[in-house]
Amino acid sequence: MKSTETPTASNKTNDKYERPSWDEYFMEVMNAVSKRATCGRGRSGCVIAMNRNLLVSGYVGSPAGLPHCDDVGHQMKKVIHVDEDNKETEHCVRTVHAEQNAICQAAKRGIALEGATLYCRMTPCRTCAMLIINVGISRVVCERRYHAGWESEEMFRKVGIELDYFHEEIQQYEKH
Ligand SMILES: [Zn+2]
Ligand SMILES: [Zn+2]
Repeated sequence: MKSTETPTASNKTNDKYERPSWDEYFMEVMNAVSKRATCGRGRSGCVIAMNRNLLVSGYVGSPAGLPHCDDVGHQMKKVIHVDEDNKETEHCVRTVHAEQNAICQAAKRGIALEGATLYCRMTPCRTCAMLIINVGISRVVCERRYHAGWESEEMFRKVGIELDYFHEEIQQYEKH
């Protein structure tokens, strides 16, 4: 409710309750889902929806049955970006990403994702972006832009996947 006025008998009936948009609705569910994440380097969540129906959800975590970062620490790997002046980045590889887990849930349940919209925390990483493309998702909505997400942005643009950001500020810390 945007009005800060004290409701009176006369304006109460005009003070219309403002419902969240569909994007806001799914983004709020994504945020709730992300609370189950088990890697402190990025507690991300993901939901995939089609025709305003929520299909599947996922959060960052180790494969089922394997220990979590929160219990045994991260499993770090260094990546050398030969195509970016040999820049080095470090990533925790213990987890299945939120987007991947949502896609896995769909596979497990036999749910087609073609034409669906995916909601997530930040610009998906390269691997997630490639999976998103190949399961036929047509729109991606991220809460924020990931500082190293240009590769995914470029791939989405090339294949015609619509990419929208909720907030414009760039997320600076390493996601994975
Ligand atoms: Zn971790
Ligand atoms: Zn990812």
